[in-house]
Amino acid sequence: MYSNVRNIYCVGRNYGLHAAELGNDVPTQPMFFMKPTHSLVTMDKGRIQLPAGQGEIHYEAELVVRVARPYEKGMTVNEMLDGFALGIDFTLRDVQSMLKKKGHPWLAAKGFIGSARITAFQPFQGLDEVQNTPFSLRINGNEVQRGMLRDTIFSLQEIIDFCGTHYGLDDGDILYTGTPAGVGAVRDGDRLELCWNGQPIGAGTIQIL
Ligand code: ZN
Repeated sequence: MYSNVRNIYCVGRNYGLHAAELGNDVPTQPMFFMKPTHSLVTMDKGRIQLPAGQGEIHYEAELVVRVARPYEKGMTVNEMLDGFALGIDFTLRDVQSMLKKKGHPWLAAKGFIGSARITAFQPFQGLDEVQNTPFSLRINGNEVQRGMLRDTIFSLQEIIDFCGTHYGLDDGDILYTGTPAGVGAVRDGDRLELCWNGQPIGAGTIQIL
């Protein structure tokens, strides 16, 4: 289903309250990391398999956008994008804390197989609608995260301009745009639902193997 995805870019610390809850400084320019395409799994299979024995695994619910064409300076978000989805940037938080201390890259914490979960893409209806509609994550029926893209530190336009200029953007690239406050650990058997404007558009049950 996602064999046409090329690069998976992720923005870290893009919501002020989330940066604060992890004790991180608010960045002065967008901070990017990447996930391998092998980490990407759809949310339609019902089960969310995650690796055991590596400490806490945190959920990070995020709005994900899909790029439709090669980036050129001056292009607007509405010209660049053709789809959006909700995703979870699963993170081995204990592993990440250890990597941060050592100054090592985050791949082991953020790039494991199945770490990028995603709903089906919906047509991109324009920046206004996408950035002003709330998205949320429910676990076992309780809302644990809620955000709106308009509340990010860097606007979607700034993210696209920065990424397009420094790393390149083209048809098939997707971007995880950061997570709002409220991240936490999942447990075996937890039922996760990603909601767009209050309606579930992807769900699954955690299986830690
Ligand atoms: Zn994230």
